[in-house]
Amino acid sequence: METRLTIPISADSFKAAEKQIKKARAAGAEMLELRTDYLEGLSVDLVNKLISKVRGRSKKKALPVIVTCRDKKQGGAIDYPLNLRIDVLVEALKAGAEFIDFEYENFLVPENRGRIRVALSQSLKGKLILSAHNFAAKFENIGVLRRHITTLYPAAIPKIVYTANHINDCFDAFDLLHNTSGERIVFCMGQAGLVSRIIAKKLGSLVTFASIDEDSATAPGQLTAEQLKNLYRYDSINAETELYGVIGSPVAHSLSPAVHNAGFADTGANKLYLPLLVEGGKAEFERFMSNVVNKGWLGFRGFSVTIPHKENALDYVKSKGGFVELLAKRIGAVNTLIIESRAMSDERRIRAYNTDYIAALDVIGSAMGKGRSELKGLPVAIVGAGGVARAIVAGLADAGAKVKIYNRTIARAERLAVEFDCDFAGLDDLPNINARLLINCTSIGMHPNINETPMLKEFLKRDMTVFDTIYNPAETLLLKQAKELGLKTISGMEMFINQALVQFKLFTGKDANPKLMRKVIAERLGDKGI
Ligand code: NAP
Repeated sequence: METRLTIPISADSFKAAEKQIKKARAAGAEMLELRTDYLEGLSVDLVNKLISKVRGRSKKKALPVIVTCRDKKQGGAIDYPLNLRIDVLVEALKAGAEFIDFEYENFLVPENRGRIRVALSQSLKGKLILSAHNFAAKFENIGVLRRHITTLYPAAIPKIVYTANHINDCFDAFDLLHNTSGERIVFCMGQAGLVSRIIAKKLGSLVTFASIDEDSATAPGQLTAEQLKNLYRYDSINAETELYGVIGSPVAHSLSPAVHNAGFADTGANKLYLPLLVEGGKAEFERFMSNVVNKGWLGFRGFSVTIPHKENALDYVKSKGGFVELLAKRIGAVNTLIIESRAMSDERRIRAYNTDYIAALDVIGSAMGKGRSELKGLPVAIVGAGGVARAIVAGLADAGAKVKIYNRTIARAERLAVEFDCDFAGLDDLPNINARLLINCTSIGMHPNINETPMLKEFLKRDMTVFDTIYNPAETLLLKQAKELGLKTISGMEMFINQALVQFKLFTGKDANPKLMRKVIAERLGDKGI
């Protein structure tokens, strides 16, 4: 089943529609949906004129169209009378529209059904999409709903669309696409449903909708055609595409999809990386994981894991008897999961890693010109005692460095220090620092508070290397002042890129191009970036 990238035309006048059609073509639309319920002063003549416009002069350039005049109760824009809405669809068929979209609920009424059936029987190529929308939540049973639609009119293309209030709600839509064949349109609305719009093509939905730009979206969670094509590799998605993604909450601003998708494209891998918004706690995370692991046909192969699920991910892999890298176990958190699929078996084993500490140790080693074994005995001051501090402390302690942890909440610093046999103090002890390497693992100095620093310039020591894990901005005030004193510095951006490189290798077995990753991040962060 070939999926058509469909752009809705939601203009209030013929002139505005003409402009939108031009833009939609330029954005790469493979089909247009004429949302005639947006047109002011709607008439059958106006719809006729619009269809001729889409047809254009050249047959080659003609895009197929869906003509829709949506009922206000099901998300329509202007509340036009039912009779006029049916007139519009009948006229659209006469004018050569490939598809008309009518609400299943209204098609249940024999009189409406009769008029549309007659028009369809007189049309050479026109097909009927019977649509059901639920803007509040998922349908009770979309399998039964689909059966009802196709029993009522076997030639109909069922369109079943509902709001996913959680990413776990999307699995009903995925199951329906997987378990049925033929022409059908199934996806979820809302932020939690975003992923269903992207993988609709992998799963063979007849249509996925995208908007020309963010302002012209006709449904919640609709992506722009540019995002779908450039960020989410739409053109190269097929049934065999393997899926990856970042699991977290929030994930909307994560740089990982841009970085990994650019890497996949660059290495010619048939892989796609998605933002996977998994809201809630351990129970929601586990439900998501059991869905993606048990539904092997979805093709999920690996994940980055971020806040708040790093500990949940570790617990999950342990409970399934998967492999957990030794230091990740001690850190108590993992940020990378790999789902192994074994030939001739449905069993899937999961491997878990923590690439934060690997990346941090790598960038420290290359900036200071030291191999891991040479970090033994190195005096290091870590500011902060949260998740990132924990991974770096574990890595450095494992390498034999002499670590002292400074934190606002001293009890938290103490707990971490006891666990990894380090020293600890409050932030007020920082002026007495005696370390060759200072690492900021707090958010002090992060955008938008770019004029803050965890360590005053006057207390930085001459022979110190200064590492700030913050990557937005790439040069924090701490790093700027350290540079002014001629000290060696390491940016959080280097750690981020390194971390992505290590993950990419775990995902693909190949090395990604660090220059490409830097370029992608700089483009995404704009002037805040590197
Ligand atoms: P976290 O677990 O929430 O820990 C935050 C730490 O910052 C705690 O030690 C906290 O102290 C301290 N802190 C926060 N606000 C503070 C303030 N106003 N004054 C003093 N201390 C403050 O966060 P995390 O996940 O470890 O992330 C920490 C930093 O790492 C973030 O800035 C993030 O950008 C960066 N990071 C970088 C990368 C990378 O790849 N480069 C990856 C992930 C994170 P209390 O214990 O007293 O609350």
